[in-house]
Amino acid sequence: MTFAPTRSAGLARLEQFLPAAGRRYAETRNTDDGAAPGERGNVSELSPWIHAGVLSASDVLDAVLGAHSPRAAEKFIAEVFWRIYFKGYLEQRPAIWSDYCTGRDAALAAVAGNSGLRTGYAAATEGRTGIGAFDVWVHELRDTGYLHNHARMWFASIWIFTLKLDWHLGADFFLRHLMDADAASNTLSWRWVAGLHTQGKHYLARAGNIARYTASRPGGALVAEGLAQDAAALSEPHDYARQPLNLPAPIDPSALEQPFALLLHDEAAHHAVLNLPAVPNLVIGAARPDARSPGAVGSLAADFARGAVSQGVADAAAAFDCPAAIWEADKPLSALIADAGVSQVVLPYLPHGWTRDALWPELAPLAAKGQAITILGDLDRATWPLAKAGFFPVAKAIDDILAECGIAGANRAASTAG
Ligand SMILES: Cc1cc2nc3c(=O)[nH]c(=O)nc-3n(C[C@H](O)[C@H](O)[C@H](O)COP(=O)(O)OP(=O)(O)OC[C@H]3O[C@@H](n4cnc5c(N)ncnc54)[C@H](O)[C@@H]3O)c2cc1C
Repeated sequence: MTFAPTRSAGLARLEQFLPAAGRRYAETRNTDDGAAPGERGNVSELSPWIHAGVLSASDVLDAVLGAHSPRAAEKFIAEVFWRIYFKGYLEQRPAIWSDYCTGRDAALAAVAGNSGLRTGYAAATEGRTGIGAFDVWVHELRDTGYLHNHARMWFASIWIFTLKLDWHLGADFFLRHLMDADAASNTLSWRWVAGLHTQGKHYLARAGNIARYTASRPGGALVAEGLAQDAAALSEPHDYARQPLNLPAPIDPSALEQPFALLLHDEAAHHAVLNLPAVPNLVIGAARPDARSPGAVGSLAADFARGAVSQGVADAAAAFDCPAAIWEADKPLSALIADAGVSQVVLPYLPHGWTRDALWPELAPLAAKGQAITILGDLDRATWPLAKAGFFPVAKAIDDILAECGIAGANRAASTAG
């Protein structure tokens, strides 16, 4: 099984993982067994498809609830909601993303200008630190485009508190190599490990914990010697004030009576999850993986993102029997839509992150004229308003949100059919 960027491959992995999504997930999910890509039995490895919008969170939750009771699948369902929560949290504090980009650029400049920093950064990103476990994960990340959640936590903690490298550089390294790289989950998880998300509460990796949860790896438990035993949480000079959400209204089918183009992008690459109420006259694909970082993006991560968009465009053109076009970074969108004789673009919501940074400057003038119509999924619409501070209000509301969104396991057959 490989990470093919197609909906059929994502649905196949979902079907394969379903039996493990209940109590087994709750009991075993913390183990990083180092299984080959796509062959882990205790976690789903669905994140690349979910991030790319090839599978929706609704697809996954509905399938899981078709196979398990809500109580048995409680832990898995909560993890999927963590992703939705992080998205909603960043939407209400977009300065966290823009400050991350500024901090990353400053940290990269500092590395370029300081040979000591450069040596430490090179050793970390090339897996030559001498901390065995960390070096293994560096190679695993580069070679597979995926890391287990626990490994991500240990990795980030060692990066920040033992290697004492700037957290922005670590978050950037993840974004450049993870197939599931996500502006919200990644930035906020790095901040959580550092003690910036829940202020003063940081995560310190322990060698004993690493050995315990990696004992089943093919080469035996991973060794992590010399980890910082006692380190203070990072701090920053200001809090991020929450901004009100400005969510698009549910789509009005009458707005789609005029010819329109459907725009698929890095975070929404497949039409099947969108419930479009009308047929587009053109499908446009825009993949911008290189916008993740000023540095080079790993080929696994970039290929997954580009492949998801190009396959999504092909699938949508076939499903809607309409022409398709690729919006390259150096071409204007306006020419594409004028050539096709359409005056408006329908686009899945562009959350804060690099895809929005890359695409919005050309979409904003259309939006100002009412010619860009944004679609937002029901789960995001119901959950994001609760993602104001900690996760607890979201966790408490999960059953209600699932009921409100009609996610009860009834659509499993439909969602797995294609
Ligand atoms: C430092 C750090 C960086 C991270 N960067 C990313 C990132 O760039 N993109 C990303 O999608 N996730 C990120 N995560 C969260 C989490 O590690 C991954 O979502 C998860 O490991 C994906 O593997 P899986 O699909 O096998 O997860 P499973 O355990 O099978 O979980 C199912 C789904 O739930 C969601 N999920 C699970 N755990 C989390 C979590 N802790 N936070 C948010 N969503 C979660 C994912 O969509 C995942 O596919 C990061 C975590 C840490 C600690």
